Amino acid sequence: MKKQIVVIGLGRFGSSVCKELHSMGHEIMAIDTDPEKVDTLRDYASFTVIADATDKNQLNSLGVRNFEHAIVAIGDNLQASVLCTLMLKELGLPKVWVKARDLQHEKILHKVGADRVIQPEKEMGIRVAHHVDSESIVDYIDLSHDYSIIELVASKKMANKNLVDLNIRKEFNCIVLAIKKQEEVNIAPAIDEVIEQSDVLIVMGHKDDLKRLEDKA
Ligand code: ATP
Ligand code: ATP
Ligand code: CA
Repeated sequence: MKKQIVVIGLGRFGSSVCKELHSMGHEIMAIDTDPEKVDTLRDYASFTVIADATDKNQLNSLGVRNFEHAIVAIGDNLQASVLCTLMLKELGLPKVWVKARDLQHEKILHKVGADRVIQPEKEMGIRVAHHVDSESIVDYIDLSHDYSIIELVASKKMANKNLVDLNIRKEFNCIVLAIKKQEEVNIAPAIDEVIEQSDVLIVMGHKDDLKRLEDKA
């Protein structure tokens, strides 16, 4: 479904979010104070606007209140990012996601109402570390301190067995949410689904259990 999203701050992070959402067909308003930044996004957004996103009057006249989702990527200017987040929540936007540079920044953003705070360098660092740790993990999502979802490439050992044979649920206390076969994704796979080598299993569980599964599999 087509969404309407406002992206504020068009540095490396903001512009990357903007381009990706645009390529998915969503309607994007891209805002930055810097005319050059705005110009480079001209072909990657429905509207590009030179504006100060800490100025409530400007946000109002742009109709930002009508958007359902805002991404605030004013990274290093802490004051501007906090102020902008506060304004967007005051305008009533249901989803305001904000890029933070560190933990302190993240805490302040939560206090002023940010619905999600992202620390790209930290989060990407964690992902990369997991990829280095285990080459079979192609992707990784943290659910909480203890639980996560990983994508695990099926090993030779797993090949030609089904979920009953592998006994992942009982033996490892993990749940196979989906199985990816090339382009095809089979969500909620049947217990007799046969796994082939290099299929990707999307597995949810406790980090310790996932680690065990990975090591044994
Ligand atoms: P990245 O690391 O992703 O490149 P960053 O978080 O380090 O980005 P910058 O590269 O400085 O941050 O990008 C932030 C952008 O936000 C800049 O293009 C800047 O012009 C813009 N910006 C700063 N203040 C405002 C504001 N009040 N309103 C709109 N845009 C702003
Ligand atoms: P991030 O955005 O992830 O915080 P960054 O890419 O913006 O990081 P810095 O925060 O400047 O970069 O971190 C780069 C680190 O690399 C610094 O700690 C710096 O001391 C270190 N560094 C820079 N040059 C060298 C060098 N020649 N040899 C070893 N370390 C270096
Ligand atoms: Ca930066």
